[in-house]
Amino acid sequence: MPERTETESRKLLRRLQATLAEAGAGQERLDRITHIIADSLGCEVCSIYLFRDAITLELCATEGLAQGAVHVTRLRVGEGLVGRVASRMRPVNTDNAPAEPGFRYMPETGEEAFSSFLGVPIQRLGEKLGVLVIQSREARAFSDDEVYALEVVAMVLAEMTELGAFVGEGEAMSARHQKSVVIHGGIGQEGAAEGRVWLHEPRVVITNPVAEDPTEELRRLNEAVDQLRVSVDQMLSNAPKGDSEQIEVLQAYRMFANSRGWMRRMEEDIARGLSAEAAVEKEQSAARARMQTVPDAYLRERLHDLDDLSNRLLRLLTGQGKDTGAQMPDNPILVARNIGPAELLDYGRSLRGVVLEEGSVASHAAIVARALAIPLIVHAERITQEALNGDPILVDGDAGVIHLRPEETVASAFRDKIAMRTAAQERYASIRDKPAETLDGAHISLTMNAGLMADLPSLPSSGAEGVGLFRTELQFLTRNTVPKRGELAALYARVMDAAAGKRVAFRTLDIGSDKVLPYMKPQDEPNPALGWRAIRVGLDKSGVMRMQLPALIRAAMGRPLTVMVPFIAQFEEFTAARDHLMRELDREAALGHTLPESVEIGAMLETPSLAFAPRQFFELADFISIGGNDLKQFFFAADRENERVRRRYDTLNVSFLTFLGQIVERCVETDTPVSFCGEDAGRPVEAVCFAAMGLRSLSMRPASIGPVKSLLRRVDLREARAVINEAQAQGAQSVRPAVRVWLTRAGCGSEDRDPAGRDPQSVSSRNFKKPAPA
Ligand code: PEP
Ligand code: MG
Repeated sequence: MPERTETESRKLLRRLQATLAEAGAGQERLDRITHIIADSLGCEVCSIYLFRDAITLELCATEGLAQGAVHVTRLRVGEGLVGRVASRMRPVNTDNAPAEPGFRYMPETGEEAFSSFLGVPIQRLGEKLGVLVIQSREARAFSDDEVYALEVVAMVLAEMTELGAFVGEGEAMSARHQKSVVIHGGIGQEGAAEGRVWLHEPRVVITNPVAEDPTEELRRLNEAVDQLRVSVDQMLSNAPKGDSEQIEVLQAYRMFANSRGWMRRMEEDIARGLSAEAAVEKEQSAARARMQTVPDAYLRERLHDLDDLSNRLLRLLTGQGKDTGAQMPDNPILVARNIGPAELLDYGRSLRGVVLEEGSVASHAAIVARALAIPLIVHAERITQEALNGDPILVDGDAGVIHLRPEETVASAFRDKIAMRTAAQERYASIRDKPAETLDGAHISLTMNAGLMADLPSLPSSGAEGVGLFRTELQFLTRNTVPKRGELAALYARVMDAAAGKRVAFRTLDIGSDKVLPYMKPQDEPNPALGWRAIRVGLDKSGVMRMQLPALIRAAMGRPLTVMVPFIAQFEEFTAARDHLMRELDREAALGHTLPESVEIGAMLETPSLAFAPRQFFELADFISIGGNDLKQFFFAADRENERVRRRYDTLNVSFLTFLGQIVERCVETDTPVSFCGEDAGRPVEAVCFAAMGLRSLSMRPASIGPVKSLLRRVDLREARAVINEAQAQGAQSVRPAVRVWLTRAGCGSEDRDPAGRDPQSVSSRNFKKPAPA
């Protein structure tokens, strides 16, 4: 085969484009395409394999292999050379295919006669569509130039054809966006919502992948890249001088924008006949494919940068902004590959739910979604490819399931579920101003967790007695630079104003682990949950404390101030944090600023070690707040963000409840107020059990206050404690089954509908030396 020239490539693309524009049945056109490619590239064989499902490829058209194999030969991803191209999404190029490890001989195709093999992926922005293969009898490796030419052809195929239409009747991709689809993802935030899809970044539509005039396309590309460089330079000059991390990221952007390799590849694609935007998208597809395989988190981030840059370039070239002119539907459910916390906040409370293709339970966006109290599903594979703006969608945040374009029966069952929730919320509104008092007269203080100014309106409407946990990190996570002291002071003051005299426990900055500040250098710790986080960062980098504590003192403006320190693992950390606060109070006094009327400083008990701290710690702390989310993960050594294990151990496990009881005892002995502010406090059955173990203060999401209060008002805690003691004496692993029976007998069974609650695992006791107890 002669070395290809760029003119030949363009001729081939032109022939392809003409064929694709012709009328005719899908199969016929696909056959013609393989013929044109084989003919133009001077090979005996050209074949197109397309995905039938996520793991199976089917030979859909061929020039040169046995026609009887079409729609018969199937391969799994990873199987044979074609499967290898599909699994790695990279070309495979060999002069001796049968000798390649993993080669799979498919007798029905007659391919044994062909020695050379070149396969390239057919992909569109990370969506795997299939594999394009050329083969020849002559044993020769294809040149880099030929590999490139075939990639360009694959790009045009991916872009120009509804390839699925060729796969066979019923499977037509054109019909794909009409079928209902169920997608399973991870639970980011529970809840249920029905609405219509609103794409965060509607895909840039490329209508002209092939271009006639490469000189003009090069001019367009260069012009757009120049604009891009100017805008990156502008972002760099606007970045705050001391913010080295942000500057580092922008410098990486600039490096990509000025990368000769990136430009050269796009210029070559244009020379071969692609339009400027198709050349950009081809590079973007390659970056996305690499992104899926790169294990290193830092490199993945850089590929994300490149992806982001390509998006900007595409928008410059096509003039298609995010604003496509489409009207945001009523009840919008945001669908995105990923989204930053600030962008999510911009949408604010207009959204009914969020579905992310990437993201994670611990992402900043997830934290914001929780604060906005809207259901969030993460890791929803392929959602951005499946969903179109305006599609009907149901988000079941309790089960982590999305129903896209649902059947009417599914939608109506789902509506029943939402209606039941709404009716229950109305019932709870009727007890909003009543106390959470149990039948035996115990008063449980119910407060709410918050993190945004936007949460505060829930304070009166939920019936919360105050804010038991104000997570201050959200203001740090949702922006690109460290907030200024004055801004923070103003915000904290507004929070206190909105609380109208009710107590607000401000937790000092709890970053690290899952909460990585955009402007903080990633630490790349082997085990971030056990790493440099929360007060450990606060004490080592005391600049943040020296900024945040005065902001809190000033915000109080003479009112009482409550400060809570996260993740205290030993007494000394608490005294060190307390000393910081004392120093800042002295400093503020010296500056002549008004001091708070009173100051309390408490510790969050989130590590088991603190439960065994010296008595002096309990005496010194003004209060203790049990951070059950972290405490439970360390108690059971089960990562709270890992879906495989996070629900493995029941919160009502006897060991955990006993441990909570011991913490309460130590607090009672030293007269230290204690509360529980982890997610479990918001689950009615758990809340009753915590109260039975002696906790008298629980802090939770505002929406949980009604259900928790409703159940607490209908139970007798002495009975609950007796049930727990009895289950414990019986050797039960979890008290849940016994508590459930008791609640049902007391007529409160319907409250035990907790998606997160699991029955304890049962273990069979065959062949053990000691017989199982009766
Ligand atoms: C906790 O760990 O229980 C807690 C309330 O803190 P966070 O969930 O913010 O870590
Ligand atoms: Mg915590």
